[in-house]
Amino acid sequence: MITCDTPGELEIFVALNVEETMQDKMKVLSTIVERTGIASLFRRAIAGRSGLILTLHRVLPTEEQNLCYNPHLVLSEAAFVSLLKLLQRDYNVVPLEDLLADPSGTGDHPKVAITLDDGWEDNYRVAFPHLLAHDMPATIFACTGLLDTLQLLPEERFTRLWSQCSARSTLEELVVDLNHWGMGKSKNRHLRPRHQYWSQELKRMPLSARLLLLDHLEQRYRMTPAQTRRFLTWEQVRIMTRTGLIRIGSHTHRHAALSSESDRDIRQELDDARTALRQHSGDAVSEVLAYPNGMYNRRVQDLVRSMGFKAALSTAPGFFTRQSNPLAIPRIAVDNTTVTDAGHRLSTGRASLYFLSSGLRSAVTF
Ligand SMILES: [Zn+2]
Repeated sequence: MITCDTPGELEIFVALNVEETMQDKMKVLSTIVERTGIASLFRRAIAGRSGLILTLHRVLPTEEQNLCYNPHLVLSEAAFVSLLKLLQRDYNVVPLEDLLADPSGTGDHPKVAITLDDGWEDNYRVAFPHLLAHDMPATIFACTGLLDTLQLLPEERFTRLWSQCSARSTLEELVVDLNHWGMGKSKNRHLRPRHQYWSQELKRMPLSARLLLLDHLEQRYRMTPAQTRRFLTWEQVRIMTRTGLIRIGSHTHRHAALSSESDRDIRQELDDARTALRQHSGDAVSEVLAYPNGMYNRRVQDLVRSMGFKAALSTAPGFFTRQSNPLAIPRIAVDNTTVTDAGHRLSTGRASLYFLSSGLRSAVTF
């Protein structure tokens, strides 16, 4: 017999139990996938014509994970190591360019390419030693304007501001300010107090205006500047690329959501990033672009093509095949929320299921 004092308690009780049931089902399914030959069959089915491009962001030891502003950006170090072992056993990890040139693998070993977006400092400190130990290639898509600085992603700056206003009960004031600056035109008024809604609204602003607005709001709400460096140094990039395992590509200069930018600013962002990459990394520069926030449209694709990029990676889930649009290549997001259990350990059954479902969501080939 369930007794709940208020309707609110009942809702929480139901939500928790639905969540628990889902986790139980996922556990059973994962075990079936792991212990039967299903995972191998699945890999054999895709290996003939598709490759998997994995997207990671940060790889962090357990004690640092809560410091990241967005849990969807984090994979635990322990899960990362298990992932590399899984990939070593069941897949064929190749450099991104090799997979794009020919996605087909052999037998039940599909090709996989590892990509890491943004250029976080932990890519060197935490992920790189494990990549080196497993002899696994990866491509880091960095925002060149953030390397060697104490700057934060615009998205993190807004989240810090929102959290501080929430803690000091000044969120309503912040929303009034955002409205004052011409934001928040959505008719979905019930969404207005939510962080995610405003975060998306901000991404629709050209980056230069967004940075000015963030400067103004951080001053107005007396935000303390970040004390720790978030992104790689060029020296760390050099050390990694010298091994021949790591390549570095463009994620624009300042993490610009390209579909919100003018033609001139798109060219500038891509030009600045390319100049910096060539100056610092020479031969290790990838000719592939990764769109920040996965934001692009036909106009962006035309500009990207005219600037000589061979391919561009989106954040839409799916496998890469020869039929994929080279300027909208799907990837599979790998983080604690997609492939690990509650203790942030990699579940190989869950990872296989997740990879399959990511492919099925977009595939015309299945
Ligand atoms: Zn990014």
